[in-house]
Amino acid sequence: KRNFNEIHRVPNGNISNGHGRDDLFAKRQKILQHRKSLPIASVERRLVEEVQNNDTLIIVGETGSGKTTQLPQFLLNGGFCRDGKLIGVTQPRRVAAVTVAKRVAEECGCELGQKVGYSIRFDDVTSSFTRIKYMTDGLLLREALLDPYLSKYSVIIVDEAHERTIHTDVLLGLLKNVQNARSRSVKESKLENLVPNSEMALEKEKGIRQTPSFLNRCQGVKYPPLKLIIMSASLDARGFSEYFGGARAVHVQGRQFPVDVFYTEQPQQDYLDAAIVTIFQIHLQEGLGDILVFLTGQEEIESVEGLVKQRLQQLPEARRKLVPVPIFSSLPSEQQMKVFTPAPSGFRKVILATNIAETSVTIPGIKYVVDPGLVKARSFNPVTGIESLVIVPTSKAQALQRSGRAGREGPGKCFRLYMESEFEKLADSTVPEIKRCNLSNVILQLKALGVDDVIGFDFMEKPSRMAIVKSLEELFLLGALTDDYKLSDPEGHQMARLPLDPIYSKALLIAGQFNCLEEMLIVVAMLSVESIFFTPREKADQAKRAMEFFTSLDGDHLTLINVYRALCEFLQESSTKSSKLKSEKKMRKWCKQNFINSRSLKHALDIHRCLAASFFLHAALKQPNGTYRALSNGQVVQIHPSSVLHGKNPECIIFNELVRTNKNFIRNITRIDPLWLPELAPQCYAAQS
Ligand code: ADP
Ligand code: MG
Repeated sequence: KRNFNEIHRVPNGNISNGHGRDDLFAKRQKILQHRKSLPIASVERRLVEEVQNNDTLIIVGETGSGKTTQLPQFLLNGGFCRDGKLIGVTQPRRVAAVTVAKRVAEECGCELGQKVGYSIRFDDVTSSFTRIKYMTDGLLLREALLDPYLSKYSVIIVDEAHERTIHTDVLLGLLKNVQNARSRSVKESKLENLVPNSEMALEKEKGIRQTPSFLNRCQGVKYPPLKLIIMSASLDARGFSEYFGGARAVHVQGRQFPVDVFYTEQPQQDYLDAAIVTIFQIHLQEGLGDILVFLTGQEEIESVEGLVKQRLQQLPEARRKLVPVPIFSSLPSEQQMKVFTPAPSGFRKVILATNIAETSVTIPGIKYVVDPGLVKARSFNPVTGIESLVIVPTSKAQALQRSGRAGREGPGKCFRLYMESEFEKLADSTVPEIKRCNLSNVILQLKALGVDDVIGFDFMEKPSRMAIVKSLEELFLLGALTDDYKLSDPEGHQMARLPLDPIYSKALLIAGQFNCLEEMLIVVAMLSVESIFFTPREKADQAKRAMEFFTSLDGDHLTLINVYRALCEFLQESSTKSSKLKSEKKMRKWCKQNFINSRSLKHALDIHRCLAASFFLHAALKQPNGTYRALSNGQVVQIHPSSVLHGKNPECIIFNELVRTNKNFIRNITRIDPLWLPELAPQCYAAQS
């Protein structure tokens, strides 16, 4: 039995210091060896043939067998990307899309964003060279708005289908339609010389919305069939197979060593405390091997991270060889990748993860699992129409997946922080998300995709009629739907295009009228991250006092704006000249002093920029003569006299509307920081300077 960690302990330092080539070669050899050792490697040819012979295929295989990282590469080598088509792989979680894409790019020996890339909300790392594209399921749904036949793709792999997120369920229904439409298009095609891709591109460029007439015009175009692969870690493929008309299912054998499962003798009042105790018990009493702890979210993870570090300080120097490594979705991706780096010799990692580590990402080196048995889930009350995130017990299936993580490379141990009698009471499997969440977002998207009869849509599992009606009502009240429940023009279409909850989209769309687009962008960005304020248990009073400094008597939204503005002011004052690194350090210090969660705030800043960028198609820069030049097409435009910014002439602006009278006037304008330009639109910036 080989030691997995050894394979990955690549002498990184050497690569850049002289003997690069040899080490690079050694690294590639090791990766090759690792790939060959995966259970899926022995069935490469068979899998490629199965995909050739079946338009829809269900692949079931234990976590870690190599489905996500290997299958797309097999298909690429098997010729599925001829004619420049893409293999799309959807993931329910952002973290999985990013980390897996990085890994596969490394395995392919290419730079991320070239042959292998990823695309998630607010972050697209792909290029025209990309052939394997990892993305979130939600993102592919959005792509379908612009390209209803998903014509770029020859293969779409819906990964982690057992998770049954709402986006996965909707995607399955949509893909079924796309697949049918594409094979119909072949049968019905008469105008064979029409090239679908360029037609699509043209429509996209002109920014034309998907209207029924667009779909009609695309009819007559011949699309190659779409290969659809559903991948799942749970062994029950029947549901998927039935839904796809008896589609073929194959099983990939995995490797699993025995895992001893331990329960607590008494119920635990405080599971975080119990987790800490267990972590240190393992660290001080058990042999080497990394620990994986399942927690419910960022806040919990950061609090446990802090407590572990504190406890370590109380141990004698020689026993401090434990490194906490967090992983959750809004963690910057360089930090996410740290879970894959082996701990220094003699040390062990304790990975603090949300349930992304359950099946989505396989982390090498785990020997111990600590499972409090809880997960954060969406829950929707169709009577009140209110959705909330609640912490609920896992299902038995989830508990088994979690303990399985300890036995990937050798025998392991799993510590469940609840009593054995509680395990027996758990539900067998998790209820699909579509049955327990607000459907407004999804209904809006389905409507935008031309699915008018949402109640009649072929869902794998139908949401309750009441939940659908409640959401239709909400969309109507927001003005996204007309009174006969059609998408309204232009609002409904605009809202469907923004990657946000309909309520947020609406807020942004009307913000222009109230001259508060900038503020709304800040609020929406700040609300899109888990928690801006950092309130460690042991310093709750101090944290509360710090928060008072930002508090607005009008409420929490304005308070969030105050935080954002205070940071901007601080950064402006303190660092006109300092480097990016220095200002990040300063920002972290500022956050610490003010009890602000710097990771969240940084994420919110990024989102704010991206949202600004989505209005960015309409950005303009001031010219020496006081007029503006639109960045998208170089057109000369002027600020409309109705704008509050008329006569103020800021350096750089974004605008909502272009009105042509005797001049090209722009309306609904917000000032933005010109420093964002190089990041947001490098090509435009280069042309300017
Ligand atoms: P599956 O999809 O069947 O669960 P994966 O393809 O995700 O399996 O993983 C296959 C193997 O690749 C696992 O052994 C995993 O540990 C390894 N792996 C995946 N990502 C990384 C990474 N970023 N660094 C190192 N190893 C990785
Ligand atoms: Mg996988």
